[in-house]
Amino acid sequence: TTFSELGLAEPLIRALDAEGYTTPTPIQAQAIPHLLEGRDVLGIAQTGTGKTAAFALPILHRLNADRRRPAARTTRVLILTPTRELAVQIGEGFAAYGKNVRFKRAVIFGGVGQVPQVQAVAPGIEVLVATPGRLIDLMDQGHLTLTGVEMLVLDEADRMLDMGFIHAVRKIAAKLPKKRQTLLFSATMPDSVAELAAGLLHDPVRVEV
Ligand code: AMP
Repeated sequence: TTFSELGLAEPLIRALDAEGYTTPTPIQAQAIPHLLEGRDVLGIAQTGTGKTAAFALPILHRLNADRRRPAARTTRVLILTPTRELAVQIGEGFAAYGKNVRFKRAVIFGGVGQVPQVQAVAPGIEVLVATPGRLIDLMDQGHLTLTGVEMLVLDEADRMLDMGFIHAVRKIAAKLPKKRQTLLFSATMPDSVAELAAGLLHDPVRVEV
């Protein structure tokens, strides 16, 4: 399989060529066609399998095809991830794979000043990568609302729960539109993650690598 055969738009194919990616990894080959169709996906995959591109590419494909502008202080795509390091890596992935797509992105996490993050989301953005605690801080202060979220990704869901973010994730989920596409990735599937997935995903395709 090639990335073009998976149905991805040409600006993405060019970016992947520049990155030197020739062949989709198994998680990419399995998940991308379902994601392009708009299905929810439950992905069981570890870091190192190419899962970041598996979700970033279909998201960028959608943003490239539908250029509506987000309202101020909203985001069209929300990616929740447990740590600052993962948030930064995901942001870098979007920058690389999306270099031929026009979109605004921001990466927010705790432990650093809030002001640049508030400024980054203020105009309205397409892609927000966030750790749960800082996201709630910004929401509670009125700097951001989630009413325009079209796509939600929960990355490393098992780790997010291990780190005690379940309450934060539920609070965030309660503020999201019901009509959205949801993706959940986890390296393991304990009951706690299965339960979270059951509440957030609608008729998901299960992809396991
Ligand atoms: P991830 O599992 O998302 O952390 O990705 C693991 C590594 O694989 C990252 O360094 C990616 O840049 C790289 N990668 C992802 N997809 C591909 C691909 N299709 N071909 C070559 N490298 C890839």
